[in-house]
Amino acid sequence: MLIVLRFFDVGHNGRMNLVDYLRISLIDRCNFQCQYCMPEGSDLEYVKRQDWLTQTELLTLIQLVFIPAGFTRFRLTGGEPLLRPDVVEIVRSIAALPETQDLSMTTNGFLLADLAQALYDAGLRRLNLSLDSLNPQTFEQIVGGRLRWHRVWEGILAAHRVGFSPLKLNVVVIPGVNDHEVLDLAALSIGQEWHVRFIEFMPIGNADLFADRGWIPSAELRQRIADRWGLSAEASVVGNGPADVFQIPGAKGTLGFISQMSECFCDRCNRMRLSADGWLRPCLLNEVGQLNLRTALRSGVPLLELQQQVQQLITLKPEINYKQRDSGTLGTYSRTMSQIGG
Ligand code: SAM
Ligand code: SF4
Repeated sequence: MLIVLRFFDVGHNGRMNLVDYLRISLIDRCNFQCQYCMPEGSDLEYVKRQDWLTQTELLTLIQLVFIPAGFTRFRLTGGEPLLRPDVVEIVRSIAALPETQDLSMTTNGFLLADLAQALYDAGLRRLNLSLDSLNPQTFEQIVGGRLRWHRVWEGILAAHRVGFSPLKLNVVVIPGVNDHEVLDLAALSIGQEWHVRFIEFMPIGNADLFADRGWIPSAELRQRIADRWGLSAEASVVGNGPADVFQIPGAKGTLGFISQMSECFCDRCNRMRLSADGWLRPCLLNEVGQLNLRTALRSGVPLLELQQQVQQLITLKPEINYKQRDSGTLGTYSRTMSQIGG
């Protein structure tokens, strides 16, 4: 019988924080080149295929290192996770573990129309899709490349048909690019149970665009939405994240606001990130304390030792978390969200 030990960190507010949520990047490559993440011409060095954690290695780490260390909730992300050829098999194997309490995925949706049913059948139930604009031209300007929007929209409709729930739509708001669409995007939550989440633009991935455009605080977006429809704060939706959830009165879905620029939620951080090449990262915003689990695994370090190292990292997490921040003055980072596993 496997005994699951729970490891907590204690935030600097003294609260106990259960660190049980792992975001797993399956691949650092992407079929989009979003302006805010991986802009055209960015000189990213991709992880070589032989350096990806294989499905077997990933499962070994989840079953024998992360679950015994207390992780029970997993999100597959990237880069673009649907580019990983064995993505359905990976979903099936993680979903089948009795200790898995939650399995979700973040995707740009471009390949979703053909894969939605297979992913659902493999046991995936929750999806977050990126949708930064309802205007095909603006969308293509943001994500790079042509004829993208309609395919993504088909992917969203396919996910809805197949029954993914909750279905969340992520919007990174960039001043002067898509902020004029905030009301139209918010309106998607009214007629169907879709959960639209507005994410404050961070200076990770494209520092020049950030310097040029800046970012809009969630409070300002909420005000615009409240002025149009009113907004209630008593909503909730299943998830593991730091979104503040609101609802337009009478809407079927909700509106989430992820305010990592205007708020610091380091004290309630419940997650770690595993990159496609096996780096375990305790904090999104700094590189302190990373462990290379792939190298350790391939060089035969005993799994019990790896589990102890992960547990040690959980106890160090409050010190590692990037807590000392002034809004608007976050630095720039050497790895993008696509490399870290956003
Ligand atoms: N390719 C998938 C997608 O786009 O949904 C998953 C990976 S992507 C890195 C995960 C999330 O990170 C997306 O919701 C994306 O919008 C967000 N993201 C990437 N760069 C960002 C930035 N500079 N600021 C805020 N969010 C960002
Ligand atoms: Fe690709 Fe997602 Fe980054 Fe866009 S946000 S470039 S879809 S990884």
